Amino acid sequence: MTARVLVVDDLEPNVKLLEAKLRAEYFDVLGAYSGVEAIDTAIQEQPDIILLDVMMPGMDGFETCRRLKASPETMHIPVVMVTALDQQADRVAGLEAGADDFLTKPVEDLALFARVRSLTRLKMMTDELRARYATGKGLGVVDNIDVENETEDARILIIDDNEDQIERLAGALGDEKYIVDHELNPEVAMGRARSGSYDLLIVNLSIEEMDPLRLCSSIRSFEETRLTPILAVVRQGDTRKLVRALDIGVNDYLTRPVDKNELTARAHTQLRRKRYVDQLRSSFQTSLEMAVTDPLTGLYNRRYLASHLSAMFDRAFWTGRPLSVMILDLDFFKQVNDTYGHDVGDKVLQDFAERISGTVRGIDLACRYGGEEFLIAMPDTDLAFASVVAERLRQEIANQKFVLNGGRDELAVTVSVGLASTETGPEDDNAQKLIKRTDEALYEAKSAGRNRVIKSAA
Ligand code: GH3
Ligand code: MG
Ligand code: MG
Repeated sequence: MTARVLVVDDLEPNVKLLEAKLRAEYFDVLGAYSGVEAIDTAIQEQPDIILLDVMMPGMDGFETCRRLKASPETMHIPVVMVTALDQQADRVAGLEAGADDFLTKPVEDLALFARVRSLTRLKMMTDELRARYATGKGLGVVDNIDVENETEDARILIIDDNEDQIERLAGALGDEKYIVDHELNPEVAMGRARSGSYDLLIVNLSIEEMDPLRLCSSIRSFEETRLTPILAVVRQGDTRKLVRALDIGVNDYLTRPVDKNELTARAHTQLRRKRYVDQLRSSFQTSLEMAVTDPLTGLYNRRYLASHLSAMFDRAFWTGRPLSVMILDLDFFKQVNDTYGHDVGDKVLQDFAERISGTVRGIDLACRYGGEEFLIAMPDTDLAFASVVAERLRQEIANQKFVLNGGRDELAVTVSVGLASTETGPEDDNAQKLIKRTDEALYEAKSAGRNRVIKSAA
């Protein structure tokens, strides 16, 4: 896997040195020599990761990082601060500025490459979500997401077989408004992680009862925990295990003895990213739902029907089980609008849709087919059974008046229904032809006086 790396340092030899090392590992490298240039390049070139020097004249690395993380155009790009500073306070300042990691010069090559690989791989997972989100925004169906990702009430699970260490970690996190649980048994922990909807898992890589790397890789492989961040706790100097852990998909790590501020800063970074990913996912879900839903009735729209009915038809064909379709059209609905107004008309349509929803089974597809026309596709249903359902629905509509104006008025409405099935279709039947037969049956129902169900003849 290759990636585009932006190296930022005010000293050219430093840029060249890192560039040479990274090129040798087949990374694509861009250079920038100041904070301002780094931000411009990041916006224009959209690198996969930024290696950022701290001490630079003008805008320093901390401020550059803060600005990168505050802008929607660059906030998703991981930033690793690379610096000669090695005071704990500097590391924490870097992490608090939003950096994803903080490496001290001279950088150990193995650790650097592993970190660049792991952060770019993690970014690829969110890139897919970002792309979907961008499509949703382009279609005008999703809202902006909130850049200030609050991390209050986040749920954290500490997985560790050492009670003293659990106590220290939980104690350090205790000042934040997090809900912190712990689990000593790694097998049990796996189950809890899958069912507990945790926002962050902290895993001790020195657990003895089970290979902790295996635990991390299982966490990555289960659907429920695939995107849950893992913060690993490693023994100082255990680079090999750390590199393996990063390759498996651990998001970040801390070395023991754990520094409280570093722990909270790293936990906070992971939790912010988790919230961001959750928002991307849910906004995409919303955009999908909006794209296939009729806003007035909440039923599926015609666009969804068009793509889904062919699949239902094909399944009917392959399984040899009948698919029946009915189209329902309200009678003289124009008069309802003309007499009571458009808003009352809308209310009738909503109530009608609700009655339909109350009648169909989970496997049926109900959609708003047109203005006052609705379509129900019923898999595994023959024409005889479909006509019983249609007749029941017709009677229900005709007998139960629609209640308007908070119960003050009542309105009698009737519906005409056309019905057809694959059972009685021609040799070269398809979804379009099935709909056409249904439409013709509906037309007959209208011509024959409305308020009735007509089955398509074979
Ligand atoms: P028929 O019995 O032949 O079906 O008569 P009809 O009046 O129901 O049929 P027509 O196709 O002449 O009129 C359909 C009416 O449905 C006209 C239109 O204003 C109304 N309509 C379509 N969509 C909506 C909507 O979203 N809200 C409201 N209130 N009315 C709608
Ligand atoms: Mg009508
Ligand atoms: Mg009509």
